[in-house]
Amino acid sequence: MTNPRRIYLLSPKAYSPETIAVTFAKTSRSPRPFDEIAAELNDDRSARFHEKWVVGYGHSSVAEHAVLHLALENISRLAIETIEGNRLASYTEKSTRYQQWNDDAFYFPQELAGHPLAKKFIVTCKHLFTTYQACIPRVQDWLRKTMPRDEGESENAYSRRIAPASVDICRFLLPAASLANVGVTINARALEYAICKMLSSPLVEVRQIGEQVREAGQKETPTLIKYADCNPYLVQTRKEMTQRSKGIPKGSSGTNFRLWSYDPDGENKILAAVLFRFSSDRSYEDCLDFVNQLGSVEKTALLDSLLSERGRFDQPLRELEYAQMTFEIEMDQGAYFEFKRHRMMTQTVQPLTASLGFAIPRGMVGAGCEEVYLDAMRQAAGLYDELGAWNPDVAGYIVPNGFNRRVLMTMNLRQAFHFCQLRAAENAHFSIRLVALKMREALLQVYPSLTKFMFIPERDSWQNIEETHFSSLKTA
Ligand SMILES: Cc1cc2nc3c(=O)[nH]c(=O)nc-3n(C[C@H](O)[C@H](O)[C@H](O)COP(=O)(O)OP(=O)(O)OC[C@H]3O[C@@H](n4cnc5c(N)ncnc54)[C@H](O)[C@@H]3O)c2cc1C
Repeated sequence: MTNPRRIYLLSPKAYSPETIAVTFAKTSRSPRPFDEIAAELNDDRSARFHEKWVVGYGHSSVAEHAVLHLALENISRLAIETIEGNRLASYTEKSTRYQQWNDDAFYFPQELAGHPLAKKFIVTCKHLFTTYQACIPRVQDWLRKTMPRDEGESENAYSRRIAPASVDICRFLLPAASLANVGVTINARALEYAICKMLSSPLVEVRQIGEQVREAGQKETPTLIKYADCNPYLVQTRKEMTQRSKGIPKGSSGTNFRLWSYDPDGENKILAAVLFRFSSDRSYEDCLDFVNQLGSVEKTALLDSLLSERGRFDQPLRELEYAQMTFEIEMDQGAYFEFKRHRMMTQTVQPLTASLGFAIPRGMVGAGCEEVYLDAMRQAAGLYDELGAWNPDVAGYIVPNGFNRRVLMTMNLRQAFHFCQLRAAENAHFSIRLVALKMREALLQVYPSLTKFMFIPERDSWQNIEETHFSSLKTA
């Protein structure tokens, strides 16, 4: 008789993360039950195992079984970018949509201590925050006129609707120096690389956070992240490529949205892969040949049968990942801050800059705040230019959410479904809705038979969002 099936937890309440990782690693060579293996381990024995196998022989995947929950408080949103740039982790952070900022809730970069522009940095930041706070009630008054209370809606419920809508408009003023809290769940393998990237950052704040994270993490995983350090390759490549990029002739102002490439056979490849998956003895070539010779009516019917039964919350089959595409999109920093949270794609973002102009939300104009808004944004842009001539990385701290930024991304059609559906939804912020709806429109041109199955609010288009929510997408 075989041994009975057992399924149980190795609880972090009973074992340290490093011991759990060693226990799992040992099942590779030992036939014994996990709890017996764990019972024989202690922190010292686990550390010795990790030194030998994970650190010494590079069996790094073992470290993925040691999971940490890190609480990071009062760090700038610019620093959060480096932290959340690690894809194999989970994050939840302070929302710019559901919380408001005090006028001193910003980070003062240490690089600026004693610098002639230090005072101007503080004054400009405070001015952005006080403008933000002053605009909120005025925008709320305007919203009450333009977004009337629904029939039967209580004053409380109505206020709960108006408050986030006003913050959605005023958040364009918040600089990247704004402080936030973020909770991070990450395994020790990913954390080691995350620390290495932080310690290689050009920003003092990020390097300090890297050291604090290493110190905090070592309390739970003393061995697995102990060797995380600044990486000369990252530092040097950054310097070299920044220098070389300066030699590139600057062309026209570029485009604010472009589908650079896509796989023209994407839909056929997806269909062939799905048929391949469900057939036990046909090769991929058989499946592709079959799909390629289908007439358009038969092919459409096959594509329909792939997605027509899918429910609103069902993920499409993984085979939608066989169609890849690359976009270049200019979006405001507020939208990028949300965009960067999507992990199942390759993203490349340029440093924060004031040189791509900023968006003007229509609500600012409607509420009569246009002048103060423009004034605060232009002051920030002016300071960015002054700081940028000295240290472009530090200058990024003063750039508010409303400024534009270019992002390059490669993703597959399955992730495009997820992104567009989540971010084009009516409850999403209008800046990211604009991005999602443009993307969906581009995909309808190239993969019409599958993209039509995205669940997107039909009455909305990006043109409609632009018209309703923006006075201008670009002001120098
Ligand atoms: C209405 C709304 C409000 C939000 N409010 C906040 C907020 O207040 N604070 C905040 O920090 N964020 C907030 N977010 C962002 C949200 O938490 C997600 O981080 C973001 O939408 C990225 O999408 P995603 O997690 O679905 O995954 P993506 O990273 O886009 O990944 C795609 C899919 O892959 C799978 N996946 C990826 N990584 C993992 C993983 N580690 N474990 C399991 N499955 C995974 C999931 O199925 C996921 O849907 C909000 C989002 C929405 C839509």
